[in-house]
Amino acid sequence: MSTQRDYYEILGVQKDASESEIKKAYRKLAMTHHPDKSKEPDAEEKFKEISEAYAVLSDKEKRAQYDQFGHAGIDSRYSTEDIFRNADFGGFEDILEHIFGGGFGGFGGFGGFGSQRSSRRGPMRGSDLRYDLEITLEQAAFGDSVPIQVPRAKNCESCEGTGAKAGTSAVTCSKCGGSGQMTHARNTPFGRFMTTTTCDQCHGTGKVIESPCPECHGSGKVRKTKKIAVKIPKGADTGLRLKVTGEGEDGDPGAPSGDLYVVLHVRPHEMFDRVGDDIILEQSISFGQAALGGSVKVPTLHGEVKMNIKEGTQTHSVLRLKGKGMPHLHGHGQGDQLVKVIVETPAKLTKEQKKALMEFDKLSGGNAGNNKGGGVFDKVKDAFDSLLADDESPKSNPHTE
Ligand SMILES: [Zn+2]
Ligand SMILES: [Zn+2]
Repeated sequence: MSTQRDYYEILGVQKDASESEIKKAYRKLAMTHHPDKSKEPDAEEKFKEISEAYAVLSDKEKRAQYDQFGHAGIDSRYSTEDIFRNADFGGFEDILEHIFGGGFGGFGGFGGFGSQRSSRRGPMRGSDLRYDLEITLEQAAFGDSVPIQVPRAKNCESCEGTGAKAGTSAVTCSKCGGSGQMTHARNTPFGRFMTTTTCDQCHGTGKVIESPCPECHGSGKVRKTKKIAVKIPKGADTGLRLKVTGEGEDGDPGAPSGDLYVVLHVRPHEMFDRVGDDIILEQSISFGQAALGGSVKVPTLHGEVKMNIKEGTQTHSVLRLKGKGMPHLHGHGQGDQLVKVIVETPAKLTKEQKKALMEFDKLSGGNAGNNKGGGVFDKVKDAFDSLLADDESPKSNPHTE
């Protein structure tokens, strides 16, 4: 599981930092966390983190995407390879190549996390997979184990991923002699140039399959769907990325599998709004309850609770139900539920009700709205006045004593 830190925070720059400020900050941090020089045990991880932050923020398009949508915006558009591709690491490519494996500096590859740094392409690590999972607010609040079906490439069982028919094996490529590369000499007016390309017969593997496995047609891989139970942590929120190690696509025989990243999306709730760890709910109460006080039943994620209404509660007051919100992710304690009270002005009144309210108004000296800030009494009175069109217009200014 990985919770991602803010890229700007990682590089220690402001949100409006210029390109050169970002470059400077990266260079400084890269020197500090250089795995060859740093004594920190997690220097490589740190180096990867700052390099990823730099790769995104130094690219106009990726940075805009990140500013707008955060990590989710980057994860949904770019693979790890895409994030790092084309970034100018200003001389630190070597370390990244060392951390990530072969092909990094070549700007084309960067596939093999576990592969060797040799001219021939080593066994490739499996690709990472992304799975977008929609969950309910309740699942986010209480955690859950959600089964998902993930289609992915697995090594073919009948050839054990080699692609060669059972009983046969791949033979050394005759075109490149097993090196996986072809060297061409080119004479130009400036001298003789040597260029190296990947062998087109073995595609850099140095081996050729003569009798392909009938099951996988020589690819070594078959597509299979696997059921995986994803553990949703309590307090999860949209954009949270859960890493399921080793559940990505299979690598070449001898190379590790990729990882599966499950990105969570919390579905909007019909009643509750979420702001961080707090839950917001609008609750209607009657004019009588607001004026006289009492207790009302309020739904929360944790079940119905009784909430006390104080005498003279104004509409749009916000009452706090402590600890009835979302649990903190990876932590202790809970957010609160904030209940915004909406006082309902009676609209369809019976004759008796109207009479009673008129009586009430009279008892209030026609001054029922004499309440600081003009609260519910004003509104009721206004509604009341307009209902009785033949009544005299309000004579008092409700805001004077
Ligand atoms: Zn096969
Ligand atoms: Zn070859």
